[in-house]
Amino acid sequence: MHHSEPNDQEIIDASWLVGADGGRSTVRAESGIAFEGFTWPKEEFVATNVYYPFDKYGFTNRNFMIDSINWAIVAKISNDDLWRVAYGVKPGMTKDQILEELPQRFKNFLPGPGEGYTVKQANSYRPHQRCAARFRKGHVILVGDAAHLNNPIGGLGLTTGILDAGPLARALTAVISGNAPDSLLDRWDELRRKCWHEQTNKQSIEFKRIAQQGGHGQDPDGIWKSDDVAEKNGMTAYLVNANPDVKEKDEALYKALQVPENQRSMRHRVWGLALPADWMAEYEDPDVVKRRGDLRPVEI
Ligand SMILES: Cc1cc2nc3c(=O)[nH]c(=O)nc-3n(C[C@H](O)[C@H](O)[C@H](O)COP(=O)(O)OP(=O)(O)OC[C@H]3O[C@@H](n4cnc5c(N)ncnc54)[C@H](O)[C@@H]3O)c2cc1C
Repeated sequence: MHHSEPNDQEIIDASWLVGADGGRSTVRAESGIAFEGFTWPKEEFVATNVYYPFDKYGFTNRNFMIDSINWAIVAKISNDDLWRVAYGVKPGMTKDQILEELPQRFKNFLPGPGEGYTVKQANSYRPHQRCAARFRKGHVILVGDAAHLNNPIGGLGLTTGILDAGPLARALTAVISGNAPDSLLDRWDELRRKCWHEQTNKQSIEFKRIAQQGGHGQDPDGIWKSDDVAEKNGMTAYLVNANPDVKEKDEALYKALQVPENQRSMRHRVWGLALPADWMAEYEDPDVVKRRGDLRPVEI
């Protein structure tokens, strides 16, 4: 039920509220739900959309350029040579400063002559690793960026949000139609948070480390060095990986991934971002549960 108020506000009476209102979620704030974790203190990310023929120079659809300072993620975003080039800058730079520095930085990223590119868009943003203390509080539920934020290297943000929403829609439908108890939503909350903490968070931090060669490259700003900020924000647990010893491990992984079977088994691991196919099996048609499970790659 809803009715109009003056000044274009609409009041809606509803039994449930799903906050899908992004990283600065009003629903999360108004519900008093803590947003736990940390914001990377020593860098901001810049995402640019740029026209340049990267594929002429052997770039594939998704490329990691690995370096402690001039790292970049280069990804094709359309079929007419529009590419996303994302890289890191010092925190606190204004948009003008970022644009002024851009030609110098692009010299490191653009193959070939490195000239004749057109920047369509450039935005900077703070990278976070944060998760709401709970995704469900009574009849209020959080999904997507409202529930969690991760640095975008590896592209797990939208993915994780979609994997919240699919099972939530099925669970909420079952609860509202009286086919499942309310406690199913607590189960959803617990399992989705577990997926985020154990998969999305860890994988995205690891992707960031790999792109930046954390600790085993030249790292004058100490992006990965443990310091007071790291200690205060509980980041130290993740920084242990950023040491020279992992270089060998990374190189071994890179070699292993040349074998297609190993790529398949990596894909299986990525499914850890999703709830198990049978997480609410007792309230679903067994055929549907089976078909959902059959869609997933098997472990090899
Ligand atoms: C540069 C960059 C690159 C990224 N790349 C990837 C990638 O490659 N792969 C990936 O998986 N993810 C990526 N992400 C993350 C991805 O963009 C987000 O995880 C995703 O958009 C979150 O979706 P959402 O619907 O939860 O929130 P949002 O997309 O933020 O949508 C929230 C919506 O709620 C609306 N809203 C907010 N407050 C109110 C209000 N009070 N009333 C009404 N409406 C409101 C907003 O206007 C907005 O439309 C990237 C993010 C960035 C910044």
